[in-house]
Amino acid sequence: MPQIEVRCTVDNCYFWAQDNYCNAESILITTDQAAKKYPESVDAEDTAMIVSEIGETPAQHCQETACKTFFLK
Ligand code: SF4
Repeated sequence: MPQIEVRCTVDNCYFWAQDNYCNAESILITTDQAAKKYPESVDAEDTAMIVSEIGETPAQHCQETACKTFFLK
């Protein structure tokens, strides 16, 4: 599995940690358009289902992408 350090500024997310680190085991990034089709927050099971359903969703700009793992704390 890839190892990646995720830094995030969304400090009202349940997974946000001090010094702007993400504490989630994994996160799902998708396009805003694809994200609208699914629940507000997704767990690991939802993530696997979404990836299986939508596969790849190219974006033209970073503004079109978002973290789907966000969970309001
Ligand atoms: S789950 Fe997403 S929004 Fe939440 S801290 Fe991690 S990267 Fe940021």
